[in-house]
Amino acid sequence: MGENEKRPIIECDNLVKIYKTEDIEVMALQGLDITIEQGELMAIIGNSGSGKSTFLNMIGGLDRPSAGRLFVDGKDLFKLNEKELVEYKRKTVGFVWQNNARNLLPYLTAWENIQMPMLFDTEKKKKERALQLLELVGLSHKKNSFLNQLSGGEQQRIAIAIALANDPKILLADEPTGAVDVKTGTYILDMFKEINRESGLTIVIVTHDRLLSKKVHRVAAIRDGKISSELILKQDYAERMNEITAFTETKEIQDEFVILDRAGRVQIPREVLERLGIKGNKVRMDVEDDRIIIMKP
Ligand code: ADP
Ligand code: MG
Repeated sequence: MGENEKRPIIECDNLVKIYKTEDIEVMALQGLDITIEQGELMAIIGNSGSGKSTFLNMIGGLDRPSAGRLFVDGKDLFKLNEKELVEYKRKTVGFVWQNNARNLLPYLTAWENIQMPMLFDTEKKKKERALQLLELVGLSHKKNSFLNQLSGGEQQRIAIAIALANDPKILLADEPTGAVDVKTGTYILDMFKEINRESGLTIVIVTHDRLLSKKVHRVAAIRDGKISSELILKQDYAERMNEITAFTETKEIQDEFVILDRAGRVQIPREVLERLGIKGNKVRMDVEDDRIIIMKP
């Protein structure tokens, strides 16, 4: 990771996604702005239904945005034609799905599963690369196992190997630790960190997992289809990562920032508004030296 030459690899500008069904319209992304740097390992957190999977699917090229701007690795995802999109999905992004059944084929062994995405390589090359990936995820000894002979955490690790098969530039993982215990979750996170550190691969993880979200450098919180705040790991904790437990106070380890979008808007958390008894759509604002104060009218 070239610390001094930061370059955005994902740029979302005012991204909107509307799902239309016969009788309803759901605005899953409501003008989402985010920039992710090349080589970052970051997490996206948010309640169920806040738009996390929708966001990941847009970046993964699995679904088209309704409006906004989305650039990934210099490509305008709005402008890719079908052929370019197929190429993009194969080469630029690797995806670990939330649902494991979607990651692995049950009638193939772990080793065979990992070879699946490598469509254009020779048999010899596929086998070798898959062996390397099995080693990377610590499952060389399970290479001939089928899906139902692997634990949830092992399936997840194979899914990661599959996602890495074509050597993507970005790894996207939707709730990769959602269905495993704390120990396995920690193991998987450590693996992501190792891969990120060794190869500089950009990794975006969507998660509910509070412990996991405390152990990455940057966490973006998504609320109602918009990034509402970001948590940045404090320097001293970045060096003492293993002291962080599920019980360590977030305030102690991460600085919280509210997001200021390009139009100058900030989103004030609903709980804060309620606590101050602010109702309706008007507040009073004062600028005092170096601070902005927002008050009940
Ligand atoms: P999360 O992953 O944060 O739980 P999602 O991105 O899956 O949230 O969903 C965001 C919103 O969009 C939800 O209200 C969900 O019901 C809706 N949604 C997601 N996918 C579809 C779809 N294919 N059709 C209609 N509505 C959808
Ligand atoms: Mg989801």
